[in-house]
Amino acid sequence: MTSGIFRPPPSADGSLLAETLRGSSPTVFRGLAAEWPAVERWTFPYIGSLAPDLPVRLVVGNRESDPTRFTRSTLGSYAELLAGDEPGQEPVYLKEFDLLKEFPQLRDDLRNGELFPRGSITSCTTWIGPARARTGLHCDLLDNLAVVIAGRKRFWLAGPEAVARAGKTSAKYDAWARLSSVGAEELAADHPDAGDFYVVDLEPGDVLYVPARWWHEVVNLTSSVLLSGFFGPKTRVLSQWLAVQGREGLHRTGLLGRGNCTCHPGRATANA
Ligand SMILES: [Zn+2]
Repeated sequence: MTSGIFRPPPSADGSLLAETLRGSSPTVFRGLAAEWPAVERWTFPYIGSLAPDLPVRLVVGNRESDPTRFTRSTLGSYAELLAGDEPGQEPVYLKEFDLLKEFPQLRDDLRNGELFPRGSITSCTTWIGPARARTGLHCDLLDNLAVVIAGRKRFWLAGPEAVARAGKTSAKYDAWARLSSVGAEELAADHPDAGDFYVVDLEPGDVLYVPARWWHEVVNLTSSVLLSGFFGPKTRVLSQWLAVQGREGLHRTGLLGRGNCTCHPGRATANA
């Protein structure tokens, strides 16, 4: 049983946002983005209608813990699938989708200027998926603000040292993240003293600050749309970017994480 190990993360009022983002504690801001036009406008039929024939690549299942698999669809048919929410099917997930690059007019529906620290570099992508779609336990190299635009999501969080203390660091390669070989609940059950463990359910308009290096596992409780914004001061983002490019170079030439990464199909399905 892990329910006693996971506590709610701290929560704060929007007036404390700037101060909170200078610290390194995960924090929930309930309803901070509730008035953003996107929360009202970005329904699945609307997103699908923007470019029904646009090809999209979907992640099948949990690529952080299982062999990486992809499938292809179009934005229109994927949006129909999400609006229908067929139970019993293996979730397919549109991850790290650059919605704002595809449809720059959608920026008008956001109020990013109210969220991110002045002068920081930001990178915002969207995660659009059905109920039960999941991202396995991982940590990112940059601070993140997760904004729920539609639907409900559950975040499990574990402290920066938790996975290493438990000896559960995964060898699987990911450009901008580090992965755990076990899920958050298993980690907490087997290593309750490895660090702080939090769990929180987010609703449309809720914002969660996930500081760099905090482990998190995320599952959709319903079909949902998440805007995920990485941010940081220019020098920090640039130095991380250079380090990532170095590892990416090794990965592309097969010297790092070959056949065991989140960006190429895994060995079991390489020819599928
Ligand atoms: Zn790869």
